[in-house]
Amino acid sequence: MVAERLDGKLCAASVEEELQGRIIACKEKGIAPHLAVVIVGDDPASHVYVNSKVRACKRLGIKSTHIELAASSTEAEIRDVIHRLNSDASLHGILVQSPLPPHMDEEALTDLIDPSKDVDGFHPQNLGRLVQGRLDGMLPCTPSGVMRMLKWANIDLTGQRAVVLGRSRIVGMPQALLLGAKGADATVTVVHSRTKDAQAVCAQADVIVAAIGRPEMVTADWIKPGAVVVDVGINRVDDATRERGWRLAGDVHPDVAEKASWLSPVPGGVGPMTIAMLMENTVRAAEQNDN
Ligand code: NDP
Repeated sequence: MVAERLDGKLCAASVEEELQGRIIACKEKGIAPHLAVVIVGDDPASHVYVNSKVRACKRLGIKSTHIELAASSTEAEIRDVIHRLNSDASLHGILVQSPLPPHMDEEALTDLIDPSKDVDGFHPQNLGRLVQGRLDGMLPCTPSGVMRMLKWANIDLTGQRAVVLGRSRIVGMPQALLLGAKGADATVTVVHSRTKDAQAVCAQADVIVAAIGRPEMVTADWIKPGAVVVDVGINRVDDATRERGWRLAGDVHPDVAEKASWLSPVPGGVGPMTIAMLMENTVRAAEQNDN
């Protein structure tokens, strides 16, 4: 079996196409969707992510404000920026790019974002709504992008055994909630670093979402034939055969394509979906501004 490609680029393009009409409708009502992206420090990968988010805004005609602060900034300075952005009525979305420098309490700072502008969906109020099964708010972009991609591929999750590898606040935990929510209806197991025999757990799964940050750890012998496999991982690994000396690897080994029915590529899978869902959250925030 050769897995079909869960093509995040194609799916993201279809999301963007649908958003275009909604953005035009906002503008006709005098609302220009507007996202602020705050980046602190000079982590090269974070700058790459922020640039792709700003590019997506440009493509769609969403206004973006890009705020760069030095790694030596204090928490008080970041707090002031967030408070100022919260009170700016022309702004609909605020994103603080992770990771923040180690001397900062990232969770405490992102908790200061007005929940109605929390387009990353990490505020306790938004995650709390998700726990309550209310899916109409700001959902975290990566897991909701995975759900959209599965829907786009017409993969029915009802009654399926899903395994989520990872239990982070930004991916694993909300992913498990979304897969098990009413309407998706999968039966979900969460695997983490203390799980005994993760391989045996995965071997039972009809659907696997891997979000552990361990390059190519999930190999073909972990997979039930015909399983759907979504690879969230983005890991930089040394590769002397490349001019730049490294390549991107997912959490799933490419050999899994020989056993799975569907597999998302890295890059070009979940990454573009994360950005598409960020755009959707920004447009939703702008639409709600009108209510
Ligand atoms: P975190 O480091 O926050 O969480 C990793 C999770 O994986 C933890 O729950 C950890 O368990 C678990 N884990 C680690 N090692 C193992 C192991 N050997 N066996 C089982 N579980 C393990 O990572 P994130 O959730 O932030 O990100 C995960 C991956 O997804 C990364 O590669 C990241 O780059 C990528 N990512 C991709 C995005 C995209 O847009 N495509 C967006 C966000 C992230 P424990 O809780 O016990 O420590």
